[in-house]
Amino acid sequence: MFLSIMRLGGVVEMARRLRNRPETIRATPPAPGPAAAAARRLRGSLQLRHVDAGSCNGCELEIGGTFSPVYDAERFGLRLEASPRHADGLLVTGPVTRNMAGPLRRTLEAVPRPAVVVTVGDCAAGCGVFRGGYGVEGAVGDVVDVDLHIPGCPPDPAAITAALRGLAGR
Ligand code: SF4
Repeated sequence: MFLSIMRLGGVVEMARRLRNRPETIRATPPAPGPAAAAARRLRGSLQLRHVDAGSCNGCELEIGGTFSPVYDAERFGLRLEASPRHADGLLVTGPVTRNMAGPLRRTLEAVPRPAVVVTVGDCAAGCGVFRGGYGVEGAVGDVVDVDLHIPGCPPDPAAITAALRGLAGR
């Protein structure tokens, strides 16, 4: 009997949490206007292969949050793909280190054309705090062409979701 009451307490607590969850989801900002040509082609579905080109992993934490049950970016047609051959493009973080410049180019070559490249974080845009480091090749734009940059150090999941929705047109 005591055990049943304990279980009931657990169920009530879970129901309370689930009731509160939609409040967090509603906090996700609305999608900005479609980004023209890419949005027309992608038609509301964007599959991205993530490449960490030399990040401190702060941006990865926020990308993890973006695809977590809280922000749940997949409900907007956004997905992370394991293989570049199944992706629409790349999601790149960090400055590009010397040993990641080649793998980044080769990963992009494996994406079917036309491919989009999205960068996340200030390091990807201009090397950020790693600028001038002996192991840094340059910003992502110095190695491959970039279609969309999401600024911040790191950008939060709401900003990442909004930017990707804008690119996907959804
Ligand atoms: S932008 Fe900030 S969080 Fe992202 S890799 Fe650079 S230092 Fe880390």
